[in-house]
Amino acid sequence: MAIRKLVIAGGGTAGWMTAAMAVRLLPSSVSVELVESEQIGIIGVGEATIPPIRNFNNVLGLDEREFMRETNSSIKLAIKFENWRVQGESYFHTFGAPGAQMGFCSFNHFWERARSLGDDHSLWDYDLNYLFCERNGFNKLPTQNPVYEVPYAYHFDSNLYGQYLRKVSEKAGVIRTEGVINHVSRDPDSGYIEALHLESGKVVKGDLFIDCTGIRGLLIQKALGVSYEDWSDLLPANSAVAVQTEREGDLVPYTRSIAHSAGWQWQIPLAERVGNGMVYSDHYISDDEASHNLMQNLPGKCITDPRVIKFQTGRLSQQWAKNVIAVGLSSGFLEPLESTSIHLIQSAVVRLFKLFPHEEISPILVDNFNRESKEEYETVRDFIVLHYFLNERNDSRFWVDMRNLNIPDRLRDKMRLYRETGVIQQDALDIFRDSSWLQVMMGQGVGVQSYHPLADKMSKDEFLETMAKLRKAKCQPLRQLKSHEAFLKSYLSG
Ligand code: FAD
Repeated sequence: MAIRKLVIAGGGTAGWMTAAMAVRLLPSSVSVELVESEQIGIIGVGEATIPPIRNFNNVLGLDEREFMRETNSSIKLAIKFENWRVQGESYFHTFGAPGAQMGFCSFNHFWERARSLGDDHSLWDYDLNYLFCERNGFNKLPTQNPVYEVPYAYHFDSNLYGQYLRKVSEKAGVIRTEGVINHVSRDPDSGYIEALHLESGKVVKGDLFIDCTGIRGLLIQKALGVSYEDWSDLLPANSAVAVQTEREGDLVPYTRSIAHSAGWQWQIPLAERVGNGMVYSDHYISDDEASHNLMQNLPGKCITDPRVIKFQTGRLSQQWAKNVIAVGLSSGFLEPLESTSIHLIQSAVVRLFKLFPHEEISPILVDNFNRESKEEYETVRDFIVLHYFLNERNDSRFWVDMRNLNIPDRLRDKMRLYRETGVIQQDALDIFRDSSWLQVMMGQGVGVQSYHPLADKMSKDEFLETMAKLRKAKCQPLRQLKSHEAFLKSYLSG
């Protein structure tokens, strides 16, 4: 059965990202219709992203300045983790890769050698993203030299992003239908969904359905009965309270993640306001206490009322079942510690079009889609677990319990390999590169027993001179740095 009509159920960030890419990539023989309900609304949170969002926007042909103006964007270079290992200490997980490419051996081995020779520069002294963060600055550097690469993402308002993509999609031919989906009808033989039936009586038929109905999972869970794997034994947080504040003081180019007694607080500085929230487990702290803690630690005056959101960490056992593919919160939820939800939408959309069933829905396409999605979700989960597991806090039961988690073998092996050899095992479908794992393992206090012998190739003097030159080179672009605020002002007025 050839796919002639794609129907997207739901118009949150997931629905409109899917629609925008569908109309951009699919041949005109495939029509795209999106059904959403203003009455039901969207989850309305989600503000921090990771650098691949820029590729997504580029493929959509969005103009960066227009996109940033439309979505209240600021620049994100890193996440600053505060109080995560122990109270009073912090570290950055930047999007940069510290150091430089030095043959086959990762830079961290050279840095370990330098340390063994008494050089006390931190790994982050070799990371331009970090140097920019420390100075609350940013600029686009007019060079292709990878030493000066400053990977960045955005802090933005995902509601506005959805609305912006809606404009782009409708202009390009996506049909938008307003209304509440009441039920679906299915083919009695195949079990495939044939149509969405709206409360208005309207029927929306299709060949392939994308479930973007958020945590309701209306098509994939409710209609098809696909089961949900609960991961709360690994990530027990099940609640968040969110509030927006006015922006006060300097505009920092990073997200703040501040650990509290039973979870953590986010501060996400958008161009014109700050997104704030607390993620926690209500087994350890009540909603009222979490809200109170958040309200006591805000960076400015509140402009919205605090809102409690409940969630279940985990994912679907199959992200693609019959003729339905789940994208967004309908496919699963992982707490926003590393800003991965919008990215998981992006990668599901990219995977969907890579494996698009133009002629028929064959099991090999479905299996590949499901295998890759599972692997990707699991590596993100493990990366988030890593932050909690490596804590050394003794101030509450929550943190003690978190370092006694029964973590997956793959994660245990990865930490062991790093501890013993300094090597970081890169999984093919892992969103996070070795520099991300390295920064979090180091930031959480993991030391290595030895570094790679390839790092010993240079003589001591030559080696220390090379490291000094590299530090000097990294500082060179600081002359072109503008404050984050000044950068936004000049760039967005262009
Ligand atoms: P939703 O926004 O819930 O959209 C669902 C859509 O389905 C809506 O249009 C709704 O109207 C429609 N719908 C549902 N039922 C029906 C029906 N019966 N009939 C018709 N329409 C229907 N992600 C990040 O990447 N970075 C972050 O910093 C981040 N922070 C987060 C913080 C919290 C506390 C939470 C909970 C999530 C966060 N996320 C973050 C995740 C992010 O919010 C979501 O991934 C993103 O908004 C996508 O949501 P969605 O489109 O899947 O669902």
